[in-house]
Amino acid sequence: MNPTTYTPLPESITALSPEQMRIRIIEAKRKLGSEVVLLGHHYQADEVICHADATGDSFKLAQHAAAQKDARYVVFCGVHFMAESADILTDEDQSVILPDMGAGCSMADMAEIDDVEDAWEILEEMGVDEIIPITYMNSTAAIKDFVGRRGGIVCTSGNAVKVLEWAFARGKRAFFLPDQHLARNTGHAMGIPLDAMPLWSPYATQGGASIEDYRRSRIILWQGHCSVHMKFTADHVRRLRAAHPEIRILAHPECSFDVVQAADEVGSTEYIRRVIRESPPGSEWAIGTEYHLVHRLAQDYPDRSIVSLSGIQCACSTMYRIDPSNLLWVLENLVEGRVVNRIRVPDDIAEGAMLALERMLALKGDGAVVKKQVAQC
Ligand code: SF4
Repeated sequence: MNPTTYTPLPESITALSPEQMRIRIIEAKRKLGSEVVLLGHHYQADEVICHADATGDSFKLAQHAAAQKDARYVVFCGVHFMAESADILTDEDQSVILPDMGAGCSMADMAEIDDVEDAWEILEEMGVDEIIPITYMNSTAAIKDFVGRRGGIVCTSGNAVKVLEWAFARGKRAFFLPDQHLARNTGHAMGIPLDAMPLWSPYATQGGASIEDYRRSRIILWQGHCSVHMKFTADHVRRLRAAHPEIRILAHPECSFDVVQAADEVGSTEYIRRVIRESPPGSEWAIGTEYHLVHRLAQDYPDRSIVSLSGIQCACSTMYRIDPSNLLWVLENLVEGRVVNRIRVPDDIAEGAMLALERMLALKGDGAVVKKQVAQC
């Protein structure tokens, strides 16, 4: 399901200055009026996010896409799996558009449908029963379809606790795709021992753990990760604490277990934004998530000290493929009556994926906190 088509942009767009592009985007949006809605993920750069009608994490944007009944066009400034979910949740006569078809997600690519189907079959042969599959929003539509057809559900970093509770009310264990860290961190916060969460590696024989491990498991963790959040380490936390004794560490649950254990608070991007918004002036924060969000928070709250946990720019390079030039290109094509870069999930895949997404949206979970300690300031 990886996007592969790529259309080079015309020079009439690439030759524009940033300011000319900004003005033409505003003008194209004005011409399209209520026919278009532009959704922007928190990890997008400022020059893109400033044009968004709604911003949010993948959960909030999925809710927003589902609520769009009037707009003919949903321009999704995020990555491919988000646009797929938006296409599934919107009506047939609405078009979801991804400004750059190369905006994928390395984590989503770590769970290939054939590998997941093989793993499921092997687990069944092992006698590992009553499994409820869960897939993180950051997965392809094919994986969501697989999960939906087997009585499973989609989760986000904002509702993983609620989703796991939902799964445990229906089965003995969860099979969690594709982010091992979100699953492990959430499971641990819910009191599940680490040895009850074996890893399933698609590269190892029979997943890599023993049959007994899988039979005793509460959560089977798919071996996937986010390459951006893997750049944060517990050593970063130690060094920052040594240099700034008052600093508080705020991490995303896609970070490794060690980082999450060392952090003061852990939660989704919506949660991170809320913590900073409600924090007192003068407070010091190091945030373990994508650079553009950290940078924007530092700009929005200049009376707090806000830095990246790693000290370097941990940016999502695929998210960053959406830029003003390709945004302008898709919008001006819409003005001319042409729909380019439309994301379409085939009906046979959309059906199961819709089931999994609807089960999640029915939970109405929001801003789950994986770990919280009340600030002493
Ligand atoms: S930050 Fe990580 S999980 Fe999110 S889109 Fe980028 S690679 Fe995927």
